Amino acid sequence: MTGDVVSPRLPRSGAPDPVRAGSRPVLARGVDHPHAVRRQTLLDRLGKGAMVLPSAPILYRSGDSELAYRPDSELLYVTGWREPGSVAVFRGFAEEERFVLFVRNRDPEKERWDGSRMGPAAAREWTGADATHPIEELEARLPKLLAGSDRVHARLGRDPLIDALVVAALTEARRKGARTGAGPRGIVDPGLLLDPMRLRKDDYEIALLRAASGITAAGLKEGMATARPGVGEWVVQAAIEGAWRRAGADGPGFGTIVGSGPNGCVLHYRDNARVIQDGELVLVDCGAEYGDYAGDITRTFPVSGHFSGSQRDLYQVVEEARARGVEAIRPGATVQGIHETATRTLVEGLVALKLLAGPVDAALQERSYTRFFPHRTSHWLGLDVHDPGDYVDAAGNPLPLEPGMVITVEPGLYVPPGSTGGAAPFAGLGIRIEDDVLVTPDGGEILAPDIPSALPEVEALLRG
Ligand code: MN
Ligand code: MN
Repeated sequence: MTGDVVSPRLPRSGAPDPVRAGSRPVLARGVDHPHAVRRQTLLDRLGKGAMVLPSAPILYRSGDSELAYRPDSELLYVTGWREPGSVAVFRGFAEEERFVLFVRNRDPEKERWDGSRMGPAAAREWTGADATHPIEELEARLPKLLAGSDRVHARLGRDPLIDALVVAALTEARRKGARTGAGPRGIVDPGLLLDPMRLRKDDYEIALLRAASGITAAGLKEGMATARPGVGEWVVQAAIEGAWRRAGADGPGFGTIVGSGPNGCVLHYRDNARVIQDGELVLVDCGAEYGDYAGDITRTFPVSGHFSGSQRDLYQVVEEARARGVEAIRPGATVQGIHETATRTLVEGLVALKLLAGPVDAALQERSYTRFFPHRTSHWLGLDVHDPGDYVDAAGNPLPLEPGMVITVEPGLYVPPGSTGGAAPFAGLGIRIEDDVLVTPDGGEILAPDIPSALPEVEALLRG
């Protein structure tokens, strides 16, 4: 089932550390290492600026029960560093100490409870930082580290201590700058530099996304094989997520959606608490996280193994929209253009099935289709399932796609339960079909091509 999807070709030297293997990429620390390459790009683009990236906070599910720790995506992207209680500082203006990392000290007593820490010395070796310090020294050292910059890229409102230190650095610069002409005079969003970089995936990221998507699809197939009338949605969820863990994924990148019958119409359905009934469709939207990268695939299938008449009609409209959306992907196309292609296909189908009054252009103009299709067709995919990055350029024009960008294509139609009139035969049907697509020099490549979406192939898969 997992085949080669669990072994993306990662640049590395030596054998993986078995303790850290799992889905965690084990990395070489050379200058051609992907994080080092990204860091060099970041430092070049920082110019005279500095950037402060804190680690993600530890979150609690309830009381003192910690959620599984998910490192901050921006920090991961440029360092690979996974420990909480850390802050990275990048100094584009500096000759030395251009990458400085603050980490937690070793602490045998705390490590006994919460697991090992690398400590500053080993962290420097592991990350290739120019200098590392205990996190306790951040407050004393940060103003000096930022002093030579002309602006600081930092996201305010996340960590009160970082906010205070960055503001203090600016205050200091204002006071001293009047005499020396030096020091940061503005705070800028780190995303201004990092988002455009993260939009264009390097080979290493594409390998991980291919693995995440492949594992996602393999688990989804297990879920399809598990679904039967009388089986709980949660059982399908367990089959999917169990397959992911067996394949080495860290787990779901977002809450797995298993929506049977009317639950397919709930866009972010989370309960997975209903027993699937005979004759129903099941909508599964799920994504394994592998090497910190997210898959995101949706399939909708009939639990009986056969689409009924109205299910068939509506499914084929959504599948046509998905196929045309994927076909529209190529360098120079735009996410907005893909959305318009998919939406037009959906509206043509809705008018043909008499769910919407025509003509098609009027329905598009009036946006009457939003009753049945209330969301967008695509989003960026990467370290985050909804990866950051603007969909328009600085002038507000749709951003042209480039090779290396990865997007989803996920048209859907949801006919609210209780719908009357022309919608009555379709009431309670919710259908979404979603693929993950890499933009290539020639077009778009579906990252997990093995899981079918064409109606006859879905039925054949269900027959086993
Ligand atoms: Mn999805
Ligand atoms: Mn999605």
